[in-house]
Amino acid sequence: MKEKKSAKTYKPLQILAIGAHPDDVELCCAGTLARCIQRGDKVTIALACRGDSASMDLPGDKISSIRSREALHAARVLGAELIEMGMSDYGVDLTLQAKQVFSDVIRQTAPDVIFTHYHTDYGSDHNNTFVLVRDAALAATVGNFRTSRPAVSKSPLIYMWEPLAGYGFQPEIYVDITETFSRKVKMLNCHRSQREWFRRRGGVDFLDYIEVVAKFRGYQSGVRFAEGFIPLKNWANIGARSVLP
Ligand SMILES: [Zn+2]
Repeated sequence: MKEKKSAKTYKPLQILAIGAHPDDVELCCAGTLARCIQRGDKVTIALACRGDSASMDLPGDKISSIRSREALHAARVLGAELIEMGMSDYGVDLTLQAKQVFSDVIRQTAPDVIFTHYHTDYGSDHNNTFVLVRDAALAATVGNFRTSRPAVSKSPLIYMWEPLAGYGFQPEIYVDITETFSRKVKMLNCHRSQREWFRRRGGVDFLDYIEVVAKFRGYQSGVRFAEGFIPLKNWANIGARSVLP
């Protein structure tokens, strides 16, 4: 007689985190991505912009190549792939071409889950990244929406991370990142140029920032450190499955 399997085997997911700038993903969902890696998921980080504006001293090309190296280093610390879309900072506009670029990334990675910005963050690069992700996730499934890759068959679930400083954002889902918080710190530490930029621009230490936010969300959810998300609720991107770790 055959033995019945008592537990379902976990089927790893394709996870795509799309941020406007190098370091956005690390700031807002790196602990959760590390949890996804732990359970066997494949994670890709995609960046819309080159990060060419965030320096007091260096020209755009110089700072963007430094930031590209920092982002690659952070992705390696996580164990993720990195895709760079190459737009300029302040250049994430709602154009057909941008939708094609975003759709191409989604077709390349065929994600089950996308993490991205909340729609009322502080600047157009962040907010437009959200709109482009939402539209491209559907367009990527439509055969006559032409990009360099063929259409995918599924629409991903989309989770929005909190805007910087959490304005107007009450998470609906919390992920316990107590075990992976140190990896999030390690990834942020790869972004040395931005730690300096944050300090000089507004006196903010982003390592302190992520600890405060993770503790606060942890207090809300009964764990030491947490990240909070809101699922996008619309026809194409909602699912009954629980997919977060
Ligand atoms: Zn950003």
